[in-house]
Amino acid sequence: MTETVETKLFIDGAACGTSDGGTYEIFNPARPAELVGRAAAGTPDDVERAVKAAHAAFPAWAALSYGERGALLRKVAAAITEDMQEVETRARLFTREHGKVLRETRLEISRLGERFVQSADYGERLERDDLIRAAPNDTIITRQPRGVAALVVPWNWPLAILGAKLPQALMAGNTVVVKPSANSALAPTMTLHKIAALLPPGVVNILTGSASRIGDAIIGHPLVRYVNFTGSVDVGRHVMKVAAENITPVTLELGGNDAGLVLHDADLTGDAFQRLYRGAFMSTGQICFALKRLYVHRSRFDEIAEGLGAAIDAQVVGDGLLPETTMGPMNNAKQLKVVTDMIAQARARGQKVLELGQVPDPALYAGGYFQRPTLVLDADPGLSVVREEQFGPVLPIVPFDDEETALAMANDDPFGLASSVWSEDIDRAVALARRIEAGYSFINAHGPSAQDGNGPFGGFKKSGIGRNFGYEGVIQFQGHHSISGAAGVLLTD
Ligand code: NAP
Ligand code: MG
Repeated sequence: MTETVETKLFIDGAACGTSDGGTYEIFNPARPAELVGRAAAGTPDDVERAVKAAHAAFPAWAALSYGERGALLRKVAAAITEDMQEVETRARLFTREHGKVLRETRLEISRLGERFVQSADYGERLERDDLIRAAPNDTIITRQPRGVAALVVPWNWPLAILGAKLPQALMAGNTVVVKPSANSALAPTMTLHKIAALLPPGVVNILTGSASRIGDAIIGHPLVRYVNFTGSVDVGRHVMKVAAENITPVTLELGGNDAGLVLHDADLTGDAFQRLYRGAFMSTGQICFALKRLYVHRSRFDEIAEGLGAAIDAQVVGDGLLPETTMGPMNNAKQLKVVTDMIAQARARGQKVLELGQVPDPALYAGGYFQRPTLVLDADPGLSVVREEQFGPVLPIVPFDDEETALAMANDDPFGLASSVWSEDIDRAVALARRIEAGYSFINAHGPSAQDGNGPFGGFKKSGIGRNFGYEGVIQFQGHHSISGAAGVLLTD
């Protein structure tokens, strides 16, 4: 239970220590004094080696056919989950370093494997060029991989988010340097080692360590030809500036403050309250596209407050390793403070704040980074929990009288990641969803358990640039290349 692990870097086909032998410690957010393990603290020299290895491996990897790369991706997918005992051990480690419940850490590992299969499945479509016959020229519009791609992921869903970048980058023909988050590096790095070892040396390189030491060295490296970053707006802005030095293109998946609109005709029977609960509180609310502001037609407000309140109150908050726990601690003290400050502000303003859920072990709760799932009822739209991204287990509910006002409130936000509309009338819900400024909208659901990975995902406004997931998520790792010649000569049939 209290054993510790140590993870290494992976560069040019081999696990290795850092150039100066440095490591750093990761603690359990449920018991912050408990050391879970040590990860390698990479250095700028390690970055140099990793990027050079990826660059050297690129021509041969890019020269493989989609079929050949797809076959290797399928082999990786099978290996990720082939040994269920090992997956279980790693999921337990992941829960200990991250905080989230075992069901979710298991899910992350299996999701990553599924995305490798999905990317491989795009092979035939990726093979097809577009042909234009328009005298006096014929043109073949093909695509080519970009080169070394830098993939940076946050701590909240490190492996599932890599599942939206890594297999896609590889299938497209790029080699990669991956930087997991310092806050959740052990189990993700062990999983990545397994993947990297199945591919030719240099194709996947893994760098852990403090972003302040290696972040800019990766993003600003002149041999890095593409950056795919998921994280906060502030760091995303910085990454874009550093990448600008070499005109390196970026995809940025940044924060969100997702609005849900519950219309007067919403169907609240069946598992509707469970779907609402999961949308807002899965992973202790630490999801970029969690439901973060719920706008409810006044005629349904009491029903929602009562039904969702009951669903939330049934949750068990505690150590994510225990089978009865349905909500673990938050991942870190900094994020916990963001959330508790927002709750304190709502209280200070005299708002109705309900801290719900069951706490079987109050001593554990008091010592760890815990926050019970919380509702702010009849929330003042000016509260920080409404205006800003909470990224934690608190949901403000705001009543509205007409849909146009609700739509205006939903769109009056600097973010534009996801959203949801809840209505019995699907056509009406879709029509309203089309008018929400968001890259993804759910109908009668919200969050990862309802997401279709075939659809491109990403944000408008400060939620980011570009799209991950789906076919679009693969071809972003390529650039178009037009090959043109005389009509009837270049294309003869
Ligand atoms: P963060 O502080 O922005 O960090 C994200 C990643 O960037 C981490 O791996 C971090 O490393 C790294 N990083 C920091 N400075 C860097 C630099 N100069 N160069 C390169 N990499 C650098 O975000 P977070 O706190 O981990 O995650 C929470 C945020 O991510 C929230 O705002 C959330 O909404 C957003 N998010 C968005 C999505 C999406 O798909 N849109 C998904 C999940 C989360 P260290 O950990 O070592 O500092
Ligand atoms: Mg908010």
